[in-house]
Amino acid sequence: MEASNEIDQESKDCFKIGCTFGATLYSNYTQPFYYCISCNEEIDDESKVICVICAIHCHKGHKLQIGAYGLSQKVFCDCGGGSFNNCENMNQKNSLSSVFK
Ligand SMILES: [Zn+2]
Ligand SMILES: [Zn+2]
Ligand SMILES: [Zn+2]
Repeated sequence: MEASNEIDQESKDCFKIGCTFGATLYSNYTQPFYYCISCNEEIDDESKVICVICAIHCHKGHKLQIGAYGLSQKVFCDCGGGSFNNCENMNQKNSLSSVFK
């Protein structure tokens, strides 16, 4: 399965704040999200989700599955939350604008 390249307005709003975990910490936040199949297999936990920014940035090239059929749900980003390897977005918020061109 491939991640869609289309980025809707709601997702774009997320880009302004970088990884949503940076803004919300462990409070659930209504946002579009993805499952990273590659990382979930690695830690043997398929319930972990990642925010859109992390899907595109930290998990570039990984096998992604959009969560909840593209709907937004109240989740927090497990990438920023430290479930996977270092989250790049928690450190590089300012460089995000160069990713989306
Ligand atoms: Zn994130
Ligand atoms: Zn991943
Ligand atoms: Zn991340």
